[in-house]
Amino acid sequence: MTSMVDVVVVGAGPNGLTAAVELARRGFAVEVFEAREKIGGGASTEELTLPGYRHDPCSSGHPFGIGSPAFRKMPLARHGLEWLHAELPMAHPFDDGTAAVLSRSVGETAMSLGPRDAGAYRRLMEPFLGKWDTLSQDFLSLSLNSLPRDPVTLFRLGKFGLPMSVINRRFHDEKAKAMMAGLASHAVSPMSSFVTGALGLTFAIAAHAVGWPVAKGGSQSISDALGSYLRELGGVIHTGVEVKRIDELPPARAYVFDTSPTALARIAGLGNAYANYRYGPSCFKIDYALDGPVPWTAADARRAGTVHVGPTAGEIDDSVRRAVRGDDPKTPFLITVQPTLVDPTRAPEGKHTFWAYGHVPNGWKGDATDLIERQIERFAPGFRDLVLAKAIAGPPEMAARNANYVGGDFACGAFSGLQTLLRPKPARSPWSTVHPRVFICSQATYPGPGVHGMCGQNAAKAVWRALTR
Ligand SMILES: Cc1cc2nc3c(=O)[nH]c(=O)nc-3n(C[C@H](O)[C@H](O)[C@H](O)COP(=O)(O)OP(=O)(O)OC[C@H]3O[C@@H](n4cnc5c(N)ncnc54)[C@H](O)[C@@H]3O)c2cc1C
Repeated sequence: MTSMVDVVVVGAGPNGLTAAVELARRGFAVEVFEAREKIGGGASTEELTLPGYRHDPCSSGHPFGIGSPAFRKMPLARHGLEWLHAELPMAHPFDDGTAAVLSRSVGETAMSLGPRDAGAYRRLMEPFLGKWDTLSQDFLSLSLNSLPRDPVTLFRLGKFGLPMSVINRRFHDEKAKAMMAGLASHAVSPMSSFVTGALGLTFAIAAHAVGWPVAKGGSQSISDALGSYLRELGGVIHTGVEVKRIDELPPARAYVFDTSPTALARIAGLGNAYANYRYGPSCFKIDYALDGPVPWTAADARRAGTVHVGPTAGEIDDSVRRAVRGDDPKTPFLITVQPTLVDPTRAPEGKHTFWAYGHVPNGWKGDATDLIERQIERFAPGFRDLVLAKAIAGPPEMAARNANYVGGDFACGAFSGLQTLLRPKPARSPWSTVHPRVFICSQATYPGPGVHGMCGQNAAKAVWRALTR
């Protein structure tokens, strides 16, 4: 490893690859080093169960992928990426056999919440409609170094930095409250935490603006498209190289880490720079090979790419709180995805892939399989009879799969206190470090988790500024 390059990127997740592409596009010589035998990190696809069943071990639903300002600028379709939309982005079934739906249409969504809450939902969404392009740019690259393009709309969203529990006061009935709590639960933080409101709202705005598609062939297609574009730009990718010390890497003008802050400090010798960084809860995930589609009682759940399972906002909040507090799961709130509804390439003819996860404490060693399957059966009786095979991953397996999931924390950092927004620590440029040539681009930085590449794009801007100063 002796050749001189401009930038070395450690880790080929969506953020590492995006940082590499952004810098290669600006004319820098870039090399990427990935620990696993293939690129992708949390955007990958594997035959986890049976031959011919292609599962996404991590991400599957991509509102922020299709809606990413970074990805929009790249010719990823030419490199094989195709988005596939289910009829509904998301459905949220209830015990009475009905469901709230998050549709592309605000009207259909509002109607599904019942007559007492339809108007309140419409009023909530109205200021954001038609504004995704600027809002996503402003929200996802929020930085002290740039001015927002549409400050009024960003301010309106910022007002909803309120906890979801406060936003939910405008609704009367459980359907709306549970649907909104389910969206906010993606922050893996209690509904009383600030920013849960804005995050939940952003998922809804994205559904109306761009949908929640899956990538044809699996999320690996996103990473492969990024990798292929990077190579076209002259970038080089090495796989199967776990970087342990920075001096193992080729000499470079800058080093960008798509790793946890803890690993970055260890590898780059930054001492206690991130000693105060906190990790959050984990998840217990099951990937299924199924003999048929999930037999949801609610018809709408049978036409949705993502299905949230948790009948009341209170139950959802309790489920997340238990994981944050370190308590065993009781009635887990589930996020489930059924990619083969729209993508038959992922399973043999007539068969299906499906995944579900619930939140569990960091480092939890228990088995939540029965709890999860009982919840699915509650809303889809007969589900267990369809299971041909399953692959189970709790926190230890998550951590083994990806060094960034410290204790199984799949968000690579807790969403609590200032760390919710000021990731990995309060700084004018959170992607820079105490070392002028070392940067961090993983989801541990703003704007955080999701396959959108925006942490990578933001970090690339910081690198570019440093190298051209
Ligand atoms: C179960 C689950 C479900 C999810 N569902 C969704 C979803 O539906 N939609 C969505 O948008 N997001 C989802 N996510 C989140 C999404 O996967 C992540 O937010 C995203 O992948 C983060 O990208 P990243 O580039 O920061 O890090 P990662 O994707 O974690 O990539 C980091 C890469 O760096 C490599 N690496 C780490 N250390 C080293 C080292 N020392 N040397 C070399 N390489 C190293 C790792 O092997 C890995 O490939 C999900 C995540 C999980 C776990």
